[in-house]
Amino acid sequence: NIRLRFAPSPTGYLHIGGARTALFNWLLAKKLKGTFILRIEDTDVARSTQESVDAILQGMEWLGLDWDEGPFYQSDNFPLYKEYVQKLLDEGKAYRCYCTSEELEAKRELAMKEGRKPKYDGTCRNLTEVNPDKPSVVRFRAPHEGLTAFNDLIKGPISFNNEELDDLIIQRTDGTPTYNFVVVIDDASMGITMVIRGDDHINNTPRQILLYEALGKPVPQFAHVPMILGSDKTRLSKRHGATSVMAYRDMGLLPEAMVNYLVRLGWSHGDEEIFSREDLIEKFSIEAVGKSAGVFNPDKLLWLNAHYIKTGDPERLATLLLPFLKERGVDPTDGPSLPAVVTTLQERARTMIEMADGALFYYQPDYPFDADAAEKFLNPETSAVLAELKTRLASLDSFDAVTIGAAFKELCTDMGIKLPQVAQPARVALTGKTAAPGIFEVVETLGMNETLRRIDRAVD
Ligand code: GLU
Repeated sequence: NIRLRFAPSPTGYLHIGGARTALFNWLLAKKLKGTFILRIEDTDVARSTQESVDAILQGMEWLGLDWDEGPFYQSDNFPLYKEYVQKLLDEGKAYRCYCTSEELEAKRELAMKEGRKPKYDGTCRNLTEVNPDKPSVVRFRAPHEGLTAFNDLIKGPISFNNEELDDLIIQRTDGTPTYNFVVVIDDASMGITMVIRGDDHINNTPRQILLYEALGKPVPQFAHVPMILGSDKTRLSKRHGATSVMAYRDMGLLPEAMVNYLVRLGWSHGDEEIFSREDLIEKFSIEAVGKSAGVFNPDKLLWLNAHYIKTGDPERLATLLLPFLKERGVDPTDGPSLPAVVTTLQERARTMIEMADGALFYYQPDYPFDADAAEKFLNPETSAVLAELKTRLASLDSFDAVTIGAAFKELCTDMGIKLPQVAQPARVALTGKTAAPGIFEVVETLGMNETLRRIDRAVD
């Protein structure tokens, strides 16, 4: 049974990189019918906040990354970590170290001065006596010879000389366990079979493997995902724009566009760009994730978003649009049906913000007229055309875009004018602007009464 986990530290919002790691884990769990576990790594009590936990959960929910087990909190596990520290001490696989931080710092400085790589010198490694009265840390007795190697599913074979690895501190003077240790205890006790995480953790992996071995636990497979870069090829940061997933929701991105975008930051499948969730579950594989860093490209994200808006279900888009309308003081229960409105806007809107702005005129009975447009298209000459249009629309038996279109065209023939000569004034009369969705659809969506009222308002 495949068991995967996403293990964020709750010290900030869910950022783009974290979301992609979560997505890769989620996809693989779905594809392999495995289990996806959410574990909150909050052992750093000073930097972890509930606010951040909430932000991470909210981000995952928005992206539709549901978990099968959890969320588990490392802060609930302190007794378990203590037990394992004791076990390693009892077995002689860990030892107490009484070196003070001043002593260690002095040795470190000396090493630097002499051009050696600073490393714990093993002063306490072979002490035979314990001194319970003296403050101590607990160190892992790491092997100093041989190699620690693993086959990374993305990066290929990787090996480290054990000589270069320190006797890792697994418990601090204050009795709290350290990061590399708790990760191993949790991954082992949760039965994690594959660890997919950012490649900033690659140097931790050999240390963790040695711990698995000392604990007699099976070592999971590892897949280290390359980082995400900004357009200038430096690590993605706020300088490149928003890095929080939820900021993209607020900018009017759809979660399906975000998921499609994130998965392509590093993974590819031929030349394909558009992937439904079902496609992804079928086609995703961790081995197809590239070795090199993905470059964040906001234009492509916007392009995908426009695609998902264009092809989206109007009912669903209407639901997602509601908060944006509310922000603009619009209550869509007062006016044409929102899914119908959405249908007229899907073709052009690239974001939900653009769609909300585009929807405004439908719900504003006294929408303003754009000054230039009014001057050009609302004058005595067009008033006659609009009055005729009003009469003809008022007499229609059925008020659908096709019938409405036919009435427009008939009017043109009878009055000897071209379609834009009625369509442009009508557009300005009904929406206040010249740039608007197809005029027949706008008329249909507004409905007969409101259309006639708006023509009156413009002609007066
Ligand atoms: N908590 C770590 C982080 O947020 C992840 C550790 C891991 O995946 O092993 O970077």
